[in-house]
Amino acid sequence: MTFMKQRNPFENALKQFDKAARILNLTDTQIAMIKEPRRAIEVNLPVRMDDGSIRIFKGFRVQHSIVRGPAKGGIRFHPDVTLDEVKALAFWMTYKCAVVDIPFGGGKGGVVVDPKELSINELENLSRRYIAEMAEIFGPNKDVPAPDINTNPQIMGWMFDTYSMHKKEYLPAVITGKPLEIGGSEGRAESTAQGMVYCVYEAADYLQMNIGEATVAIQGFGNAGSNAARLLHNDGAKIVAISDVSGAYYNPDGIDIPKALEVCANNKHWVLTGLEKHTKVVKLDDPMKLLELDVDILIPAALENQITEENAPRVQAKLIAECANGPITVEADEILNQKGTFIIPDILCNAGGVTVSYLEWVQNRMGYYWTKERVNEDLKRIMVKAFHEVLNTREHYNVSMRIAAFILAITRVIRAAEIRGLYA
Ligand code: NAD
Repeated sequence: MTFMKQRNPFENALKQFDKAARILNLTDTQIAMIKEPRRAIEVNLPVRMDDGSIRIFKGFRVQHSIVRGPAKGGIRFHPDVTLDEVKALAFWMTYKCAVVDIPFGGGKGGVVVDPKELSINELENLSRRYIAEMAEIFGPNKDVPAPDINTNPQIMGWMFDTYSMHKKEYLPAVITGKPLEIGGSEGRAESTAQGMVYCVYEAADYLQMNIGEATVAIQGFGNAGSNAARLLHNDGAKIVAISDVSGAYYNPDGIDIPKALEVCANNKHWVLTGLEKHTKVVKLDDPMKLLELDVDILIPAALENQITEENAPRVQAKLIAECANGPITVEADEILNQKGTFIIPDILCNAGGVTVSYLEWVQNRMGYYWTKERVNEDLKRIMVKAFHEVLNTREHYNVSMRIAAFILAITRVIRAAEIRGLYA
């Protein structure tokens, strides 16, 4: 476990980026232009606490790239946030947006805070101060944040309100992931899982796998994992294993997913604790064994670095859909590629969330709102197109889907930078 935690998924992504850049024969200048962030801002945010005192919080915003459009990326509230981490996540966003070809660059923000220590009032003060302090760099055409770890639709609502009050204009497109009542999009809550499911269907088609007969194991049963389970179950797939912090649950005949969702909803926090008492499942002694089950499709939707060189040789799934960021290490990736495992890489697989953020931004700018069906129609079109573009790139360069995704994304960023040229 310690071994796995030491690895930084961003270092893995950088190695893959470098590999793709080498294949494209980029010059050092070209690499420097698209690798380092354009702008990184650090602020000290004074916030009034409930007892009347003032506490200073450190905040960051990084705009990695604005070549293909406004910077786009979430804001996280976490005690371990560092400027380096925010830079890394902003880099990732540039390439995620480029893979699915939505007109955004990459950005990310963060505040060093444990939000559990704050009252609702203090959380609101901090959220408003964050956006107010940097009101000049945000904007629908400049930098469009969204939720990330420990930030949610309500916080996006406060930030949108603060920004609009500063600008004296109604500007919902400054931020995405808002509640529906104030310009959020239908389909946003389950967009990551839905986007991944569209990719899984295309991959299954390519591999001549019938979803109606496929067996699936899902690690993680939070926003991404539980929605993926529900969507795949509704389409006839047999979900034989699911897991979360409480453990891993297995039934080779297929788990009753509606029951699992009900158990989560009835537990105090959204967890599967006690599932074995409500439906036919066995709890695995070692939850990590879920990753090694004899299934057609494996969906890591929990944490980074779950499949390493240690367990990769025992992974049996034919198709792995990386819903989590960085669940497979570089070494494990090589082992799986040699085995012929088909991997839908994270920067493509979990891009459904930012894609529906884009559709929210589009709706905000039009002032006209779509039904969930309409949103999903566009999400599907964008994800399916991106999947096939990555697949074609893979065949053209004879590389893995992961390297192909980076090649495609880097090419798009480089092309845009070259066409725009240097202003001064
Ligand atoms: P979440 O917090 O809603 O859920 C995480 C789940 O993982 C929970 O069910 C938790 O119990 C489980 N978990 C934690 N430790 C575990 C362990 N050791 N073994 C098994 N399960 C464990 O998070 P989420 O939003 O569903 O995100 C999951 C992953 O997907 C993360 O890597 C996230 O970065 C990535 N992702 C999410 C989105 C999104 O829109 N939700 C978008 C892009 C990427």
